[in-house]
Amino acid sequence: MALFREQRLKIYNSLSGKKEYFVPINEGRVGIYVCGPTVYNKVHLGNLRTFMSFDIVTRYLRHLGLNVRYVRNITDVGHLEHDADSGEDRISKKARLESLEPMQIVQRYTVDFHQMLNRLNCLPPDIEPSATGHIIEQIETVKDILSKGMAYVVNGSVYFDVFKYSDSHHYGILSGRNLEDLIHNSRSLDGQQDKKNPQDFALWKKAEPEHIMRWPSPWGDGFPGWHLECTTMSTKYLGAQFDIHGGGMDLKFPHHECEIAQSEACGNQQPVNYWMHANMLTLNGQKMAKSTGNNILPEEVFSGSNTFLSKAYNPSVVRFFMLQAHYRSVLDFSDAALAASEKGFVKLMASLSVLNQLPVSKITTSFNLNNWTNAGYDAMNDDFNTPVLIAELFTAVKFINQVKDGDAQISAEDKKALEIQLNHFIFDILGLESQASDSKTDRIDMVVKILMDLRNQARVDKDFALSDKIRDQLIEAGIQLNDGKDGTGFSFL
Ligand code: AMP
Ligand code: ZN
Repeated sequence: MALFREQRLKIYNSLSGKKEYFVPINEGRVGIYVCGPTVYNKVHLGNLRTFMSFDIVTRYLRHLGLNVRYVRNITDVGHLEHDADSGEDRISKKARLESLEPMQIVQRYTVDFHQMLNRLNCLPPDIEPSATGHIIEQIETVKDILSKGMAYVVNGSVYFDVFKYSDSHHYGILSGRNLEDLIHNSRSLDGQQDKKNPQDFALWKKAEPEHIMRWPSPWGDGFPGWHLECTTMSTKYLGAQFDIHGGGMDLKFPHHECEIAQSEACGNQQPVNYWMHANMLTLNGQKMAKSTGNNILPEEVFSGSNTFLSKAYNPSVVRFFMLQAHYRSVLDFSDAALAASEKGFVKLMASLSVLNQLPVSKITTSFNLNNWTNAGYDAMNDDFNTPVLIAELFTAVKFINQVKDGDAQISAEDKKALEIQLNHFIFDILGLESQASDSKTDRIDMVVKILMDLRNQARVDKDFALSDKIRDQLIEAGIQLNDGKDGTGFSFL
């Protein structure tokens, strides 16, 4: 808490479009809600980038001494295809295609989600509520909105009346969209016949006879609309007004806009003080998405089993790669960028061992540790600017190497202080893990790469005896180097 008072954290608030000083509603405590995954498929790296961004947010708030309650839901019903109010429920559709119970689908992909986040060292939320576990509460929210006259019942479904709401509230406050634009964009969608206006959205949908996931309600058997669960569960676990609500940029509209409308219709003014949106991970310049197939799975990166990749990458390298971009910037995924991150990550980790072995001197340290520490915190206080913090880490790496080479000195006291602060930044706040490689195969890859680099240097130096020796001895060890026009690769004999 003392650290929080000292460090003045600013957060970019999507609602105001500005960076604002962060002031929690209740001193010393923070309530944060992040929209979780729709568990009908394996999570891809894009999803994981968003969850990692909020892992950084919660880690930093906790590091500053705040008592954080982190809620992240599991969407296990009601998220229809194309984010519309018609079409099939994504989970029911997958269940039908795979001939499984919907809850088997939910369980399978929830487990996968947890495993992948765990491998990337993302801390679990404090509460992980699911939509199906909160049907009763969601029905109560619908009743509340109906009682305020902001929704209507048609043919077993309940719709939110956007025009009625707009008489007294600002629908579009978060996304900056206006009602006229929405008329234009939503006309082409199917299944609009029950709605008074195409902008209206479903709070409760009637279940057709073939629909498996269904619950009794005052309006007949049905299931909740997608936006409803987040309003209901955030209110239940964090209160009618809470500090931070997060999710990917693509959720701003309609999902978050509808959440605000639902909460305000229930009489809760401004449910959220700071709306945070993480930007997209792209592949080939296009958003990674489950539905289009333009995505890479984390396990493919950890095992190197995607043709897009030249090798396997350690989860911490993937984490480091993502943190080298600010969470509000688009980040394009590529093998070359991952390889560059790996080099940086290995260098950073190596410098920690070097620091540990450094000789200390009695003369003062030729590095302003205070300024450097402040610069690291300044980066994080500036809307969680991890790339700038990482740049500061490399300033420290440079200094450590200068001391190693005898070009600078460090006192025993400063060495200890630098070690502690590096640990805070690297492990507590950025959540990196020290192992450069988690499998023997990875390590062999790295050693062969080092030898290939040495061989290339020998060739540049025209030391062909050495370059041939490296190649021949690798063959004796069962490793064949393959020279091609795109460089050298290797295979096991
Ligand atoms: P979903 O399971 O589709 O509801 O998505 C779960 C979370 O991942 C949401 O916060 C999305 O905004 C986020 N997300 C989806 N695709 C991407 C992407 N390509 N890059 C970053 N975040 C994404
Ligand atoms: Zn949500």
